[in-house]
Amino acid sequence: MAKRIRKYIFVVGGVMSGVGKGIAASSIGRLLKDSGFKVTAFKIDPYINVDAGTMNPTEHGEVFVLEDGTECDQDMGNYERFLEENFSSKNYMTTGSVYLSVINKERNLEYQGKCVEVVPHIPLEVIQKINNTLDSSKAEIALVEIGGTVGEYQNILFLEAVRILKLKFPKDVLLCLVSYLPLLNKDNELKTKPTQYAVKTLNSAGLQPDIILGRAAFPLDDKRKEKIAFNCNLRKEDVFSAPDVGSIYQVPLNFKKEGVDKVILEKLSLKRRVNLFGRWLKLTRKISSAQKKVSIGIVGKYFSSGAFVLADSYISVIEAVKHAAFELGLKAEISWLDASDFDETYHSSAEVRKNLEQLRIYQGIIVPGGFGSRATEGKIKVIEFARQKKIPFLGLCYGMQLAVVEFTRHLLGLKEANSTEINPATPFPVIDILPEQKEKIREKKFGGTMRLGAWPAVIKEGTIAFRTYLQSKRFLLNSWEKRKLGVKEEQLVIKERHRHRYEVNPDYLEALKKAGLIISGISPSGRLAEIIELPQKAHPFFIGTQFHPELTSWPLDPHPLFKEFIRVSASL
Ligand code: GLN
Repeated sequence: MAKRIRKYIFVVGGVMSGVGKGIAASSIGRLLKDSGFKVTAFKIDPYINVDAGTMNPTEHGEVFVLEDGTECDQDMGNYERFLEENFSSKNYMTTGSVYLSVINKERNLEYQGKCVEVVPHIPLEVIQKINNTLDSSKAEIALVEIGGTVGEYQNILFLEAVRILKLKFPKDVLLCLVSYLPLLNKDNELKTKPTQYAVKTLNSAGLQPDIILGRAAFPLDDKRKEKIAFNCNLRKEDVFSAPDVGSIYQVPLNFKKEGVDKVILEKLSLKRRVNLFGRWLKLTRKISSAQKKVSIGIVGKYFSSGAFVLADSYISVIEAVKHAAFELGLKAEISWLDASDFDETYHSSAEVRKNLEQLRIYQGIIVPGGFGSRATEGKIKVIEFARQKKIPFLGLCYGMQLAVVEFTRHLLGLKEANSTEINPATPFPVIDILPEQKEKIREKKFGGTMRLGAWPAVIKEGTIAFRTYLQSKRFLLNSWEKRKLGVKEEQLVIKERHRHRYEVNPDYLEALKKAGLIISGISPSGRLAEIIELPQKAHPFFIGTQFHPELTSWPLDPHPLFKEFIRVSASL
C-alpha cells in the first residue's frame, strides 16, 4: 500500500493581529480540498486558558462550540464553514491545554523519570497532537494556524514546534506568513518595512517563511512584491496580494487568481488531483450578483469595547444569516440593536416605546445567546413586540429562554415569571438551572461544565421545525443512532450544538402547551424543551431554539432554520 502523504502548513501572523489569518488559512484549506486532498485544520491559541469557554466575548469574540463540546476560538468556525467539516477537540490547542497534557503525562510517569522541560517537551507535545489528529482523521495535510503575532513571547514555543518539524521534514513543511502592509495617506504607498521586521523576527526563531500573504487595504503592486521578496529572501512569485474584500467568501477565489494554491502545491511537491472549485466559484458569483435586500435586526449586548463597536461576539449568527441570504439570492442587511435601548432601566418608557416602534423597519429579528441579567428586560420587550406585530423572530438559546419568559408573563398571566439566572427569587421560575449544574456552580467548577456540544432532539410532526429539518439530512440521526437512543425509527431526530446551564423548567411544559406554545423539539427523555414555536396561523415565523443552529451553518449548505427564517422574512 502506498504511504499516505503527510504535509504541514503553518500560518503565522506578522505586524499585527486581526488581519484575517484564520480566513487566509481557511481559504488555503478550501483550495487544497478542492484540489483533491484531505485536509485537517488546527487552531493554536497562545494563552493559558485551557479552552475559550471562560473568556469574555467582548474581549475575545464569540466562543465557538464544536460537536464534541469543545469551547474554542471563532476561527474553528471559519474552518468548519470553509471546509464543510465538523472538527473536534483534536483540532484545537491552547498553551494551557498543551501544558496540562504534558503535566498529566509527567504525573503518570510517561516520561520515564526524565527531567521534563519547556523545550523540547512542550513543542514535541504540539507536534504529537498534530500527528495524532492526522492519523485519526486520515488527513494528508495539516493546516495549523498559530494565534497572535510573531515576536510575541507567547507563541515562541509554537514556532519552535515548526522549527523542529521543518528540520526533520524540510520538504513536507510550509510556513506561510500573513503580514499587514499599512498605508500612510501622505504618499499613498503600502509600507513593507513592518513585514521585513516580522520576517527578521521569524529568522531569529530559526525560521524562514516560504510564502508571504500581504494583507492590505489595496492589492500589492509589483514594486511592493519585489521589495518584500528582495528583503525577505523570497522569490517574487512567493509573495501574494491579499487585499480587503467585500465578503470573506471571496478570499479563496482571490488566492486562486494569485496562484497561491499552485505555489503551495509545488513547494510541497504535490500534484493537483482534481479541480472541484466550481461549487465555490458559483457561491462567489451568487454573492456578488445579489441585489434584493433583506433587513435583519440582531438585538444583543456584547457590542462595545471602549469607543469601538464589535460584532465579533455574534460572528456565527451573522454568517448564518448571510449564508441563508446567499442561497436565496438576497443581500442581508444586518443592524446591531443594543438591548438596553428597549429597557426601562436605562430609558424612559416613552423612549422605549419609540425605539420599539422603530423595529418595524426590520423584516426579521434575532435575539441571540447571552449570559447574565443586563438588559434582559429590553430583549423581552423586543420579543413581545415581534410576537404582537408578527415580525419573523428567531431566538437562539438565551433568546429562546427569554421568549418563553415573555410567553409565560403575557399569555399565562404569570407577571413575575423569569429565569432564575436573572431573578433567583422569582415565584415562577419558568427557566431554571438543572440540579447537576447547580452542583457545579456551588463547587466553582465553571470551565467546560455547561451543557455543551451536540445533543439529540425529537421533532414534532406538523411543525415548522419538522418541515424545515426534513430539507437537510446533515442534522438528522440515522437508524443506528436512533436505536442507540431508544427512539422509534419513524421519528425525526436531529442533533444540534448546545452551550448553556439553564433550561425551560419541565414543570411548566404542560401549562405552556395549553396556552398555545408548541414544543416542536424535545430531548428524547421528554423533559427538556429544545425548540419552541408559535402556530403558523398565529404568527408567520416565531421560533426559539435552546441550541445554537448558527454554529453549523455553512456557506455552501446554510442551516435550514436560518434559511426558513430569511425566506419568510423576505417574503412578507
Ligand atoms: N445564559 C443562558 C444559560 O446559561 C443562555 C446561554 C446562551 O445563550 N448560550 O442557559
